[in-house]
Amino acid sequence: MSTSVSNSGKVYLVGAGPGDLGLVTLRAKDCIENADVIVYDHLANPETLGWARDDAEIIYVGKTPGQPGISQNEINALLIEKAREGKRIVRLKGGDPFVFGRGAEEAQVIADAGIPFEIVPGVTSAIAGPAYAGIPMTHREHNSHVTIFTGHEDPAAKTESAIDYAALAKLGGTQVMLMGVERLGWITSEMMKHGVRGDLPVALIRWATTGQQETLTGTLADIAQKAVANDFAAPAVAVFGEVVALRDKLNWYETRPLLGKKIVVTRTRKQASVLSSKLRALGAHVIELPTIRIEPPSDLREFAELVQDAHAYDWIVFTSANGVDAFFDIFFKLYADTREIGGARIAAIGPATGQRVKDFHLHVDLQPKEFVAEDVVREFKNKGSIENLRILLVRAEKARDVLPKGLSALGAIVDEAFAYQTVPETRDISGARGQLAKDGADLITFTSSSTVENFLALGLPWPKGMLVASIGPITSQTARENGLKVDVEARRHDIDGLVETIGAFFAGKPAEKS
Ligand code: SAH
Repeated sequence: MSTSVSNSGKVYLVGAGPGDLGLVTLRAKDCIENADVIVYDHLANPETLGWARDDAEIIYVGKTPGQPGISQNEINALLIEKAREGKRIVRLKGGDPFVFGRGAEEAQVIADAGIPFEIVPGVTSAIAGPAYAGIPMTHREHNSHVTIFTGHEDPAAKTESAIDYAALAKLGGTQVMLMGVERLGWITSEMMKHGVRGDLPVALIRWATTGQQETLTGTLADIAQKAVANDFAAPAVAVFGEVVALRDKLNWYETRPLLGKKIVVTRTRKQASVLSSKLRALGAHVIELPTIRIEPPSDLREFAELVQDAHAYDWIVFTSANGVDAFFDIFFKLYADTREIGGARIAAIGPATGQRVKDFHLHVDLQPKEFVAEDVVREFKNKGSIENLRILLVRAEKARDVLPKGLSALGAIVDEAFAYQTVPETRDISGARGQLAKDGADLITFTSSSTVENFLALGLPWPKGMLVASIGPITSQTARENGLKVDVEARRHDIDGLVETIGAFFAGKPAEKS
């Protein structure tokens, strides 16, 4: 995006894909990361806003039930006004920006105003919805063309239906309808009136590609009534055609163990992604609700001095990946050569910490099998005497004292280097807090004591029936001390272990449709 030569603003009309974060294009992500202003809709997955710069202006222009929405003219005016201020604007729309949803009209208005623009296509729900329901849009034996039509026509522009249902019926093939599930009764009867057989397979897919995806199948004759009976509301894609029958064999997504489960992830925005994507891969609907943020330590100078002297230590002990990042961030500002770290041996607590050390092409000399401070002290002890050895402990401010005390008790000379601090996350750009209050969740995950404390400090009402999963005994203890009941504790105390245990927990409890 930085390639723009002029000083004038530019509008990027960006498709956010159908919902699954993995279906957002690299170009879209790049645009979001660089935007000054993001103007987004109801159907654009708000998790994508987590990629925005901290100082980006984020404007929601979708509908909020019970409130007068912002009109299309107002949206157009907003885009032009911001662009004239010289800003880079991402107009973020669900699916593909040029498949319904008025992207074309916005592009025309922007072009008329002489403002530079770019279109970033997205994966449309018309294609992704059927795919995630196990319905191929084409199959050599069944059809050779696909029609995408809207079930919701512009009432202002047309008095009669502009859709020629007679022609549609004659055309056959696969037909995909966006919008208008509430008009399904009328649409299906029009199709039948024009000769389409009543037993034609039909599928409705709502909240496609998200952890809340649901599919309803039936025939042209009964789908409308089934939709009403099942309260099958928008947003949904409808597929009409023989290909729908292929779902019996090809339904792959809705068989995932955590499908339909709403799971809250409380880590920092930056760290959340690994846990979130692993849960999503199992089908969960993840609500990322960061409660804390990583900031530099209160005494950065002191930390830098300790990093500078790291070569004087016998051991450097890292207790978190954040600590490793903070350490090398400073280290490479001070030194151009990794060898300046000297002869210090390196210990890393937890596999993620060890992996981060290895990312810097350094060997991990001690990787305790257990990650709890008490066990680490024991492993040092087993390694032989550490009496009089100098140990630099790189850690967060206000962490527990067990590790430094335990190592000192074994005779080591321990210096603590406070690499970072965790502070409460005050922003809620993706609206996760509101979503949690409104829709609740099945489970909340805590990956450290501070996530427990910081989540509770937000003072949000506890959603009814929300269970608690913890990464290990220390976190569980903190949760219990704060009056929570821990329902799931990871058998192995890392992210993979947590995800595995959650998967097994729900596998033992068959999913209920809510
Ligand atoms: N530009 C969008 C479509 C906008 S029109 C796209 O390419 O997907 C809005 C309609 O899109 C909704 O009424 C619904 O029919 C469909 N839609 C969008 N996202 C959807 C999703 N995740 N699941 C089901 N339908 C979706």
